[in-house]
Amino acid sequence: MIVVYSDAMVAPAQGSSPSAGKPRPVVDAWRELDAAMHVVAPVAVTIDDFARAHSRRFVEDVFAMRVANGFGTRSADVNRSLPYTSGAMLTAARLALAGRTAVAAPVSGFHHARWSEAAAYCTFNGLLVTALALRAEHPGLRVGILDYDYHYGDGSDDIIARLGLHWITHYTAGQNYLYPEQAGAFLDAIPEHVARMADCAVVLYQAGADPHIDDPLGGFLSTAELAERDRRVFQCLHDRAIAVAWSLAGGYQQPLSKVVAIHRNTYRECRAVYAGTPAPAPER
Ligand SMILES: [Zn+2]
Repeated sequence: MIVVYSDAMVAPAQGSSPSAGKPRPVVDAWRELDAAMHVVAPVAVTIDDFARAHSRRFVEDVFAMRVANGFGTRSADVNRSLPYTSGAMLTAARLALAGRTAVAAPVSGFHHARWSEAAAYCTFNGLLVTALALRAEHPGLRVGILDYDYHYGDGSDDIIARLGLHWITHYTAGQNYLYPEQAGAFLDAIPEHVARMADCAVVLYQAGADPHIDDPLGGFLSTAELAERDRRVFQCLHDRAIAVAWSLAGGYQQPLSKVVAIHRNTYRECRAVYAGTPAPAPER
């Protein structure tokens, strides 16, 4: 399995969100699981890359610390990490597309970021930054965004609508699935969600941990149901030969090890599908 990671993606956790600090413990857990894990460093995105998905003035204001980041702080450490977190998503998508495979980007904090506004732990929308960079590199490319974070990817919709990005198929489960009694219907709908992206060469998959039923900002799925979600997503994409770059998105249980355990299960399910090894039982 290919994982895009370097310490440049990490910043001290801000406020009540562990997201900025999460890449390192997640990658450590994955490495423990898979000694053959192949780590590739992210290529940092540029101001011009950010400015495809956001107002240039907003991008410059964030880096000059004239406005707060998505955590509501003004942090040089967070700012230094931002070109690498969006860069990890873009690097993962490039590698996935080139190899027609699955590549992990252990990053969070994208889908609430709007055209000219950071929100809810999200400063820049690395999903849209990635989609727009890929489209510039591959004219005519169609991109899917399969957002299975617990929350509505409103920032992604804002940018897609503002720029009229008809070549992106965006599905955000947070608009439709909120309650434990919907778990079965959600899992059954996954093949249909993926089928909507049948004409996409690559899908950006937000494998959020906050749909977990114990999440303080979630949730509606058990640990086993989250693993089943991931198994179905990867299997459906694999069956359709659609490349996938996947991110961590939200997860707010304490201690952080509970969130890391969910991301471990996502890695196991991905590896099981793409390496052809049988999926082990998810960790409880
Ligand atoms: Zn969320």
